Amino acid sequence: MIIQQVIDEYNYKLSFDKRHSLQMDFLENSVRVTGRKGSIEVITGSMFSGKTEELIRRLRRSQFAGLKVEIFKPSLDKRYSETRVVSHDDKSIISTPVDNPSAILLLAGAVDVLGIDEAQFFDDSIIDVCNTLADNGIRIVIAGLDMDFMGKPFGPMPALLAVAEYVTKVHAICMRCGNLAQYSFRKSEDAQVVLIGERKLYEPLCRNCFNAAINK
Ligand SMILES: [Zn+2]
Repeated sequence: MIIQQVIDEYNYKLSFDKRHSLQMDFLENSVRVTGRKGSIEVITGSMFSGKTEELIRRLRRSQFAGLKVEIFKPSLDKRYSETRVVSHDDKSIISTPVDNPSAILLLAGAVDVLGIDEAQFFDDSIIDVCNTLADNGIRIVIAGLDMDFMGKPFGPMPALLAVAEYVTKVHAICMRCGNLAQYSFRKSEDAQVVLIGERKLYEPLCRNCFNAAINK
């Protein structure tokens, strides 16, 4: 009787650990779910933290699973190319630039998984658009900066984090001390918020180094 209890407890703990480790594994257990079920995932963090790489990785895996994948990004992000989401290590995936979030609703078609890159540059209507698409069974994967170069929450990102089922915060490495960095410090004096990131203009910094840099 007592031995049976020990075995039951062990089995319960084992299955709990298994569930837990699957959850921790960047949601890869839910690439293909049975029955249509929409959801919102947000990948966020500073510049050079690998957001776009992680977005592309998830979308590629969905493509491998035979799912229909589309990516959208604000048309103002013309850094490298019009039609590709390009990450800093040069892995890329085809995407469609759109002027506003409602265009995503019109263009989404019969997709299973919909990626959105640079989501911080969209206006607040992106929140309703994402909820509507997820309500209709689409898996949404959003990548965007959580803070601007002043360290302030960026555009619709706080609300997207709130409505998402899953949030992944990724970090860069502080260029001054090597700790994990969450700020995108702008080296240029230009105070315009919408200035797309390049290595020369921005450096990822940790809290201590960011505070030291802005108080200089
Ligand atoms: Zn630092």
